[in-house]
Amino acid sequence: MAASTVRDPVSTLRRIAFLMERRLADTYRIKAYRGAVAALLACAPGEVEERAAAGTLRDLPGVGAKTAGVVEDCLAGREPATLTELEATSGPLTPGGEDVRAALRGDLHLHSDWSDGGSPIEEMVMTATEVGHDYVVLTDHSPRLRVANGLSAERLTKQIGVVAAVNAHLEANGGFRLLHGIEVDILDDGALDQTDEMLGRLDVVVASVHSKLRMDRAAMTRRMLAAVRHPETNVLGHCTGRLIMGGRGTRPQSDFDADAIFAACAEAEVAVEINSRPERADPPDDLVARAVEAGCLFSVDSDAHAPGQLDFLAYGAARAETLGVPVDRIVNTWPVERLLAWANG
Ligand SMILES: [Zn+2]
Ligand SMILES: [Zn+2]
Repeated sequence: MAASTVRDPVSTLRRIAFLMERRLADTYRIKAYRGAVAALLACAPGEVEERAAAGTLRDLPGVGAKTAGVVEDCLAGREPATLTELEATSGPLTPGGEDVRAALRGDLHLHSDWSDGGSPIEEMVMTATEVGHDYVVLTDHSPRLRVANGLSAERLTKQIGVVAAVNAHLEANGGFRLLHGIEVDILDDGALDQTDEMLGRLDVVVASVHSKLRMDRAAMTRRMLAAVRHPETNVLGHCTGRLIMGGRGTRPQSDFDADAIFAACAEAEVAVEINSRPERADPPDDLVARAVEAGCLFSVDSDAHAPGQLDFLAYGAARAETLGVPVDRIVNTWPVERLLAWANG
């Protein structure tokens, strides 16, 4: 690498983290890069350069040998080897789906560190603008999902204020919209895990089953039908709950009357989510085909828990294209005004 100009250490560390996240690298290793970004941002002007010259970058909490090396490379005008290696092996995540991906303007399902995501809201937003979105919907978990630090009504209310503040800042910077939503748990009886009043204050409601996935067919069908028919529900999240690979192991799909569920989705104009996470790829192919047949709307979502995972949409887009999902029925190809009219209609 003959580059001799100084590179920005923060954007370089962010780029490394992004490229690692989109390929589902070990979270602990990625944390080192995200932590170093936070440490550098907290430095006084000129401090990073001084510390790099004095060899004291590692005294900053959150900066280790590896990340200090990246910063030193950047300031010396060298491309860090880690970045070179990642860029060289970071082609498209999957073949196909380019047309659907290009049509997607946003993402209706992602998490921040307010629930079980790994990054602050602002970092998710910054990365969303970098992957080309016009809008995203922040959908942290609801209170019942304690393992995921689900948001109480109080915390959700507080988050409404934060989202408004982020949007006020974005308005001055080109018009990207951060919409506020929730991934609300579908309780055992089909009720939603948040008050109607709170749900009514949000832009988009994604309802998902996260517990008792092995409920018998009749009960699961009743449960999901009730959630789909709830007037605040806009998207049915990862409807079968299956896991096909990955660190959490595999899990079979839930059993329910898919034709009844998709008919109800079509009637209520609830979008069937094509969840793009590679370990989910939910719904399976045959169910996507039946939802197309039933006349359903769709949303192709990343369900990102880290900024780089926003890129997962490539997987969902490829599946939607292969399975013949009509592009105009994918709600996140719509401009934000049309999306909001649908969600609040
Ligand atoms: Zn979920
Ligand atoms: Zn989720």
